[in-house]
Amino acid sequence: MMTSPKNVVVLGATGSIGTSTLDIIARHPDKFNVLAISGHSNVYKLAELAQKFKPKFVVISDSNKYSQLSDLIGNGSTVLAGAQELETICQLDAVDMVVAGIVGSAGMQPVLATVQAGKTLLLANKEALVLAGELVMKAAQDNNASIIPLDSEHNAIYQCLPDSYRCGITPKNLNKIILTASGGPFWNREVSTFAEISPDEACAHPNWDMGRKISVDSATLMNKGLEIIEAHWLFGLNEKDIDVHVHPQSIIHSMVCYKDGSVLAQLGEPDMRIPIANGLGMPERITSGANMLDLLQRDDLQFFAPDYIKFPCLALAKQAIKTGGTSMAILNAANEISVEAFLSNQISFTAIAKINAKIMTNATVSQVDNVAQLLQLDEEVRANARQMVKQYA
Ligand code: NAD
Ligand code: MG
Repeated sequence: MMTSPKNVVVLGATGSIGTSTLDIIARHPDKFNVLAISGHSNVYKLAELAQKFKPKFVVISDSNKYSQLSDLIGNGSTVLAGAQELETICQLDAVDMVVAGIVGSAGMQPVLATVQAGKTLLLANKEALVLAGELVMKAAQDNNASIIPLDSEHNAIYQCLPDSYRCGITPKNLNKIILTASGGPFWNREVSTFAEISPDEACAHPNWDMGRKISVDSATLMNKGLEIIEAHWLFGLNEKDIDVHVHPQSIIHSMVCYKDGSVLAQLGEPDMRIPIANGLGMPERITSGANMLDLLQRDDLQFFAPDYIKFPCLALAKQAIKTGGTSMAILNAANEISVEAFLSNQISFTAIAKINAKIMTNATVSQVDNVAQLLQLDEEVRANARQMVKQYA
């Protein structure tokens, strides 16, 4: 029997995750229909994507660019502007799934809107979960929305859990999970030279081609810290049940250790189209365009314990889970500002972890109540972090 194509919304269509998602969709025109796309400011890329995929809606979240985009797109798609419209496109009746590919806390409200509407959420935007994991997981449960992780490690774990597994439930018969980490570009670099690291060096990741914010997070290992928090919410696990192994080849994407001693792993080339195709195609397997792994050419798989002294951001994330409440939201906001300041050459690479740690120490943690509280907290912490950036400039 022919099934009708699934209607997909691609948030952050102009970014790295968005581009990989649309690359897969273009390979399967019979399976997917792009209903809506969003981008923050790149009007030319959005117009090009609109021409190619003919979505019904195109959202530009920076509303100052509305008329420029409208002129480029003409009357092919309906152009909407402003952050609020991101929520509108996620909740349209026709939506089957939403790919959350926005970077940073700007993705929180569209992610919440998606699960509140009971839609399937394909989640790459880890910051949304770090900031509001408690609210997102509860809303997903209350509205029977499925969450499929696209982050390669979490997608690997998801693939190693039983087919009936639903995110938010603590898996049965588990001993622990192991998240693998590439170690980033500076794993073997002498720590005494870390203060001289430039933004371009930090963004030159050895295995993955990604947006600039996550590339810096990978270099500080904050990315792995955010991923521990992401795993804590997605799989209902305590921090002590989540291990990290540095695996510089990025071939094993993560592992699940069961209590009988079995360890299940998912392997593949480091290509984000593999986890994204897994999420889009579920429950089927669809082609992704990625190369097939040839282990005969890879005789060098290595594993190391993480270095918490050289990469202090990892310990900050573990501490944030232990403290609970709003501490994860605080860490996320501090990190977004310190990374932005590093990328714009205002502070050194080593100042990122120092600012994050200081903000964490000074902050007052409370329990998470609602979105308005988190939005206000996010603003406050960002303002404090911006002040602190000046001290390290
Ligand atoms: P990117 O910088 O390449 O793209 C980000 C997208 O978000 C762009 O489309 C941009 O227009 C949009 N955006 C930026 N600021 C916005 C704002 N204020 N409001 C609305 N939209 C905004 O980033 P990326 O590498 O594609 O990463 C996206 C998310 O996926 C991040 O949370 C990242 O941690 C996660 N992720 C990425 C990868 C990867 O390989 N790139 C892997 C795992 C997880
Ligand atoms: Mg990852």
